[in-house]
Amino acid sequence: MDAPIILSSRNRKKSREIAEILAPWKIPIQSIADFPEVGEIDEDGATFLDNASKKAREPALRLRRWVIGEDSGLMVDALGGAPGVYSARYSGLAATDETNNEKLQHELAGVPPDQRTAAYACTIALADPTGEIRASAVGYCRGVIIDQPLGTNGFGYDPYFLIREYGKTFGELSSLVKHQISHRARAFSAFIPQLLRVWRET
Ligand code: IMP
Repeated sequence: MDAPIILSSRNRKKSREIAEILAPWKIPIQSIADFPEVGEIDEDGATFLDNASKKAREPALRLRRWVIGEDSGLMVDALGGAPGVYSARYSGLAATDETNNEKLQHELAGVPPDQRTAAYACTIALADPTGEIRASAVGYCRGVIIDQPLGTNGFGYDPYFLIREYGKTFGELSSLVKHQISHRARAFSAFIPQLLRVWRET
């Protein structure tokens, strides 16, 4: 593995989080945005793992490089796990964080606070230059969806996602704290040892 590993995400805020999480390990990462020849990847999988694997495999095959795919989302208990794999485009193809949060609030209108429990999920997959998935990991973080946004940190549903233990949303907590407890941080803690092992072997 001589060249940097490609991170297959065009979400800039998410990519920054991943770069911050990986920084202590000095794992060289390059953005998929550097490769305009790789088109949009259809996130049509039924699970986070399907989508993370697809996001890793397609560019790996196209570029003949090692690629990390990450798929994440919000699962709300009162909504049967929605928006789940549809989290990024919950409110339609032209969705923004704002319209997604509006839809989420609409769907949860009238649901009492004690039933607004949810979990963020994050799945990561590593594809080798032949497109084979060589490592994968998953992480979760539980919280509660509140009805008014608090804070401006993070992205997506963060201003509405309250961590009970801290009494604060991910919109209020600093990135340093988010990187200790988030679904993404937990998935990467399980993923990094696998990545380093594969790296040593190649
Ligand atoms: P993906 O790029 O298809 O994995 O989209 C994930 C979507 O899930 C994002 O666009 C957000 O809406 C949501 N999401 C995932 N992780 C987070 C997070 O850490 N904070 C807030 N929203 C998140």
